[in-house]
Amino acid sequence: MSTAKKNILITDRFSQESLLTLQAQPFLNVRQASQPSLDSENLEGIHGLLIRSRTLIDESVFRRAKDLQVIITATSGFDHIDLKAAKKWGIAVMFTPDANIESAAQHTWALVLAGTNQILQAHRSTKAGTWREALPAGMELDRKTYGIIGLGRIGSRVAEIANAFGMKVIAYDPYCDEQQFKTAEAERVSFEEVLKRSDVLSIHVPATAETQGMIHRSNLDFINRGILIVNTSRGSVIVEADLCDALAENRVAYAGIDVYEKEPLSRNSRLLTLSNVVLTPHIGAHTNEAFQKASELSSLKLLRFFMDGSTSDTLPPKAAWYGAPAAHQNHKS
Ligand code: NAD
Repeated sequence: MSTAKKNILITDRFSQESLLTLQAQPFLNVRQASQPSLDSENLEGIHGLLIRSRTLIDESVFRRAKDLQVIITATSGFDHIDLKAAKKWGIAVMFTPDANIESAAQHTWALVLAGTNQILQAHRSTKAGTWREALPAGMELDRKTYGIIGLGRIGSRVAEIANAFGMKVIAYDPYCDEQQFKTAEAERVSFEEVLKRSDVLSIHVPATAETQGMIHRSNLDFINRGILIVNTSRGSVIVEADLCDALAENRVAYAGIDVYEKEPLSRNSRLLTLSNVVLTPHIGAHTNEAFQKASELSSLKLLRFFMDGSTSDTLPPKAAWYGAPAAHQNHKS
């Protein structure tokens, strides 16, 4: 390790404990930015960036941060970073995919249960004093079919909970091996089958060229009528206008959505006019525990990098799906 101190810029919320750990290191100078955006930030002499998804990293950042060696994002998504540019400039990038599994799976289930048990409508009618007069009946999960698209870290945890509810779990993930399906107690099915057979469907894929718009008009036409759909992955995965049509026509009975094509969600979004949706503002990982874990894991990665050059959870991911072409127009395999 060189004896010169490394300058670290933290651009977003970060736990106090992890901040103190970093500040206690004699080989680090740690500074916190006043806002997540780097647009007006002086990046001269910065060696390490600790960010979250509100900090967008494009090529201009690399041009301005001539001493930059590493970026660590305390998130499981990474579509806020231009990874091609990072590679071109030789900057190491790491993320913290293990920090949010529990919170994101739990939030998925909060949205599922809000739909099956009509929590929002019931809350409104109780408050309005109409008791349960206008409330349609809810739905039991036991023995229903739970479909998962993307049986990775979060999808597998969601599957475990679905199994605990007594559901039949089916999943579409062309990149998972048989062992992953076995561990998650999920039946491997095709894309078409997961749409046709699921009573409840949740999506847990990364934002890639291949997953962009994978749920769109033509497959919403043959989807199991009356299905409940929950998306806590990335907004780009569903064509929002097509989902709105399907919800308006009750082909999709309910959608629980945490992530959107454009965030924050526009006040003019059609989603806001629909009664059979529950919308949350991208809070899948917004728990104290996930925040602590992401801060702790990212600070450890930063320390190791500057102590001995070691890296872990590097980006781009080495997964087979990374760089897969856009195939959603005919997403049936
Ligand atoms: P992961 O990498 O562990 O799992 C993703 C899975 O998707 C993998 O098993 C992969 O094989 C599969 N996959 C990739 N391309 C696919 C395709 N075309 N069709 C079907 N399956 C495909 O990721 P994870 O940690 O489980 O996270 C999943 C998603 O959840 C990510 O998009 C992440 O950004 C998002 N997320 C959102 C929040 C939130 O706040 N709402 C929080 C955490 C994670």
